[in-house]
Amino acid sequence: PATPTASDLKALVRAVPDFPATGILFRDVTTLMSDGAGLAGAIDALAALAADLSVDAVAGIEARGFIFGAALAQRLGTGFIPLRKAGKLPVPAMAEDYALEYGEARLELDPTIIRAGQSVLLLDDLLATGGTALAAARLLRRAGAHCTHALFVIDLPDLGGMTALSEQGIEGRAVMA
Ligand code: AMP
Repeated sequence: PATPTASDLKALVRAVPDFPATGILFRDVTTLMSDGAGLAGAIDALAALAADLSVDAVAGIEARGFIFGAALAQRLGTGFIPLRKAGKLPVPAMAEDYALEYGEARLELDPTIIRAGQSVLLLDDLLATGGTALAAARLLRRAGAHCTHALFVIDLPDLGGMTALSEQGIEGRAVMA
């Protein structure tokens, strides 16, 4: 079968109105990742976006960033760093709080898994305001990593996330907008 285009991949994303709050159009990637060609196509597209980057590790944001991020790390031949939701780590963690498009949240990282100066590529399923990705980058930087690039399956350009990232020295790239 032919390699799926960005528009084929976009057609596999389910848009759910009013979740998790009224007025939010939730982009549900369950339907993309449960499709074999869709999952492979998304990972191929992410790997292509990373092809010119020097990457020592991929960091993914729980939970959907784990699925795409672990597959991308395996493809790039690097390790995977989980950026976890609050209260999941069994060891002392660094934490960053942030505002979401629809609420407040916290990310946590075990800083002992970061090697000082390593280049960590950030990965999440979707970029909206950029608050989540910026909290993730702050955590990685506090732990001693270089974080200069972030990949997303989906960008919602009207929410300004790419600009917010670039103001903090991070170039964002997305498979689809
Ligand atoms: P933000 O911090 O505003 O960039 O929001 C991005 C994070 O929230 C990602 O982890 C997404 O999975 C999730 N998210 C925000 N808005 C949406 C949306 N409209 N559809 C699906 N996920 C979303």
